[in-house]
Amino acid sequence: MTTIAFIGLGNMGAPMASNLLKAGHTVRVFDLVPEALQKLANEGAYASQSAQDACQNADVIISMLPAGKHVSGLYLGNKEGEGGLLNSLSNKPLIIDSSTIDAETAQSIHEACEKLDLDMVDAPVSGGVAAAKSGNLTFMCGGSTQSFERARIVLADMGLNIFHAGDNGSGQVAKMCNNMLLAIHMIGSSEALKLGTKNGLDPKILSDIMLASSGSNWTLEKYNPFPGVMENSPASNEYQPGFMVDLMAKDLGLALDNATTTNSSTPLGKLALEMYQQKQNQGDGKKDFSSIIELL
Ligand code: NAD
Repeated sequence: MTTIAFIGLGNMGAPMASNLLKAGHTVRVFDLVPEALQKLANEGAYASQSAQDACQNADVIISMLPAGKHVSGLYLGNKEGEGGLLNSLSNKPLIIDSSTIDAETAQSIHEACEKLDLDMVDAPVSGGVAAAKSGNLTFMCGGSTQSFERARIVLADMGLNIFHAGDNGSGQVAKMCNNMLLAIHMIGSSEALKLGTKNGLDPKILSDIMLASSGSNWTLEKYNPFPGVMENSPASNEYQPGFMVDLMAKDLGLALDNATTTNSSTPLGKLALEMYQQKQNQGDGKKDFSSIIELL
């Protein structure tokens, strides 16, 4: 079995690392939060004192961190290049970054890996916490065919669908497009449900009708934003995340920055970002992203 170092044990990373343990791998973990480390140690992982400790002589390194600055800090170190993990490795592990970050940062880490003859994939995920727990994540990978083929074996213990999106950074581009569409769907489903209920319809009956009709989409099927329609949804649990408003605003920001760079027209993505920023300004950044329905 493989020795895997897993860095970042938050809402997503913790269940992903758990599934690697269940698959029989040796898993060394590190997070800045001691409680997160302890939880995985209780499940059989080796709790490390630092990312460097966790990664020494590991076969695979997986990171699941909030944003590009954290991933860049982990692998490349500070602006002077000090403290980066890549320069402290004594072997040649496969690097997998599953965080959702900008494609440019992902490419800069790919370039650093190539200089050191290390295989790397950017491998962001879709599916959320439920899929992370059940091992049903979708991975969208960017990198060489060789890196992808190595990564696929490990990712199969955490996910169901594993795509090779293309070259370095392509996984992040695919993820950015997907999440912009997800935000638009969530706002659209919320609007339709609010309109229907204002007209006296029952939200569950309306959801069932739309699910069986041409308005059907993932947010209605798996993540209904209306409280009480789905027993285990964040909406029925005071919008506890799940997937935070802050993270959705971050992802929409990545999409809009990229649209500016590539001169792409994304009017609905722009409106979605403005709505999620408005939600943040109301102090709701830590709520689940389905709470956008409260703005309507
Ligand atoms: P989270 O905030 O719950 O977890 C991030 C973890 O990283 C925290 O435990 C934090 O302590 C740790 N961390 C931060 N910097 C660190 C460092 N330098 N070293 C070690 N640990 C560090 O976030 P999450 O919800 O698990 O999301 C992680 C990534 O996955 C994000 O990029 C997010 O956009 C993406 N994502 C999240 C979801 C979701 O539903 N939550 C779905 C798909 C993708």
